[in-house]
Amino acid sequence: MSRFLSKEYAALKEYIPGEQPQDRKYIKLNTNESPYPPSPKTQDAISRDAAAKLCLYSDPESRALKEGLADLYGVTPRQVFVSNGSDDILNFAFMAFGKDVGACYADITYGFYPVFAQLHHIDARVIPLSADFTLPIAEFCHTGRLVVIANPNAPTGIALSLAEVEEIVRSNPDTVVVIDEAYVDFGAESALALLPKYDNLLVVRTYSKSRSMAGARLGFAFASEAIISDLERIKYSTNPYNVNRLTQAAGLAALSEDGYYTDNCKRIIATRERTREALVALGFTVLPSSANFLFATHEKMTGEEIYRRLKEDGVLVRHFTAPRIANYNRITIGTDEEMTQMLARLTNILKGTQTI
Ligand code: PMP
Repeated sequence: MSRFLSKEYAALKEYIPGEQPQDRKYIKLNTNESPYPPSPKTQDAISRDAAAKLCLYSDPESRALKEGLADLYGVTPRQVFVSNGSDDILNFAFMAFGKDVGACYADITYGFYPVFAQLHHIDARVIPLSADFTLPIAEFCHTGRLVVIANPNAPTGIALSLAEVEEIVRSNPDTVVVIDEAYVDFGAESALALLPKYDNLLVVRTYSKSRSMAGARLGFAFASEAIISDLERIKYSTNPYNVNRLTQAAGLAALSEDGYYTDNCKRIIATRERTREALVALGFTVLPSSANFLFATHEKMTGEEIYRRLKEDGVLVRHFTAPRIANYNRITIGTDEEMTQMLARLTNILKGTQTI
């Protein structure tokens, strides 16, 4: 820390992203990326011609992209916000809607929420998940606070039903309810259907998972026109050109090949279920997942040791140190071949424990 840093940031605990090691080739199952490349048209959109236009700023309104998203999802362009990854949108949401009322979120959820709360000096109520890692719905009702929920949740993968989400949105009429749907395409119900009924709902989505574009950084969100205009106000006060030209072009092209991405989601779901059965057969307890990852624990070996041994064997998974989940690992669903290899190495590692 330099002696120049403003005091208010001195104690800030930044978010630590999953490892992106460059030292050797791993089977990379640690940051919930898609194992499949973007569709052909998405790749073609990042053409030499498009690159030649990089001398010009991108459209600050991202008009074409917003129109494409509005068409596909059945809303108006003024109900759409786009940003440099959905982390950006979550950051704006905490800033715009949390300062006066405080925020609430689960104890086990996306690790960026507490960072945003701390960054913006927002009072946070942290609500423990139940013992089985499900969300205690009643505690998220009538909060009087900005409510932030990942659905499906991360890192557990457990999803809420649409009726449960609606109960939370309905019972917090005077504050914004953010439903972070980063993983919704892998088997959960989207809250988008509730948008016509509730002016306090903000649905946040991303191209990083189901649309294979984590490296392009593109997040989008749906809400009432008033909420979107609040987010635009923050955007124009920080970075008007928040989505670059190449990402705008690729994001729009991806929408024209939506079937390619929905097929990949189906493939990932099938691989997930096959992997889940194999993990259970190896003695793991695996939480029910509606996402592109599994959260698993084994009573014969600590989560930390499983993580470390897999890493030595060239497989990266995500291990968290929070006490409630320290014995779990989050395993991203890769290709069938990658999962077969991961399972073979895991089988070997567990042999030493005489459980199999
Ligand atoms: N929400 C959740 C629950 C996530 O796991 C992630 C991925 N780290 C994000 C949001 C952010 O995704 P991105 O910024 O790549 O859109």
